[in-house]
Amino acid sequence: MNIPKSQLRANEHSQTLAINQLSLERAASGEKVFAFGFGQSPFPVPEEICAALADSARRKEYMSVQGHAPLRNAIAAFHGQLENKRWQADQIVVGAGSKILIFCVMAALKRAEVLLPAPSWVSYDPQARLAGHKVTWLTTRFEDRWLLTPEQLDGYCRARTDETLPLLLILNSPSNPTGQTYSSAQLKALAPVLRRHNVIVIADEIYSLLNYDNDYAALDEFYPEACIVTSGLSKWCGAGGWRLGFAHVSESLGNDFLQAVIAVASETYSCAAAPVQVAATRAYSNQELARNFLDRQTTLLGAVARHCSDALTSAGAAVHAASGGFYLFPVFESFRERLAARGIRSSEQLATALMAETGVALLPGSAFGMPEDSLTARLAFVDFDGAQVLDTGGREPSFDKVREGMDVLSDWLDGV
Ligand code: PLP
Repeated sequence: MNIPKSQLRANEHSQTLAINQLSLERAASGEKVFAFGFGQSPFPVPEEICAALADSARRKEYMSVQGHAPLRNAIAAFHGQLENKRWQADQIVVGAGSKILIFCVMAALKRAEVLLPAPSWVSYDPQARLAGHKVTWLTTRFEDRWLLTPEQLDGYCRARTDETLPLLLILNSPSNPTGQTYSSAQLKALAPVLRRHNVIVIADEIYSLLNYDNDYAALDEFYPEACIVTSGLSKWCGAGGWRLGFAHVSESLGNDFLQAVIAVASETYSCAAAPVQVAATRAYSNQELARNFLDRQTTLLGAVARHCSDALTSAGAAVHAASGGFYLFPVFESFRERLAARGIRSSEQLATALMAETGVALLPGSAFGMPEDSLTARLAFVDFDGAQVLDTGGREPSFDKVREGMDVLSDWLDGV
């Protein structure tokens, strides 16, 4: 039986798939590809944590849906030490990556209006639609470093006509795709607006430990009453494929809500893989190892991020230097006329032409909720061997492939 398209949910991700497809074809034909499209950690999982996973391979039991209690205790203590969180282990839900937990939180609500600052990570919008919610994009400005301002949020909330739906905002800091981090003053200013309009917030802090400076500020410090904080092993521990994440649900959202989130987890993934939960307990218990690993990663990421934003600025693009994570979000507005003369009028056309002509893979800004015609893109500057750059033996770490890719991109912009 062939199921017709009319019975299927629309695939919203054709744009990113198209670039991935082009880059696969190019690589298969032996041509060079600068893989700045996909953003996974280039760093290896520390040996000690890998050994813990190997040791726990025989853990075959289903674990509690909410998560292995020693792991939840370790997560609360770890984030207490490293980020001053005052979390209760009982308010933490562990899952197979933070992505599924963001979905569980959304699916626990009957119907809500999900507010997404544009640009935002690609999965929030389709997840919200799968959960049956209304999605509203709030387009941020380059001049505001792509951050949602209290005025913009307040203006939208005051003007909205249908006030029956609860509001759920997703705020991601440091941001994928922009690399920008909210300061404590900015979060403090957002809090009264969130309070005024009773906004529930998913604070996606998956990159918080990869903030380059030691000044990370978290929304739940200023708005503790309605935050669900999500994070996990994927970014700071280089373990995306291990699929281990968690959500900390603010106690004041009520036990019914926490139980509703756990119920969705129970009816979908049951529990995160038992061996991974045991290994993760080790990862979250060794704060010394984590601090050391994080220091080295943030120094290296900061250096490569700076190189890329400087290169983009010299080439004539507008970009904000990244303050955390793996990404930059350049604007190619100053090339608009020259690009239009070549038939390039959208971010998708820009990314496709760049890939086809140079092998540089960027993702179009429209994939992150930006208007079709905005000449923006996301650049993930992690096409380097993390194990090698961590182990430099005292030499300057080399990011040759990233440097070469940036040169190729600059030359292409010069020639348009
Ligand atoms: N949030 C953001 C902004 C991300 O970039 C990612 C992964 O790419 C996730 C959440 C999901 O992370 P995981 O499900 O691996 O914990």
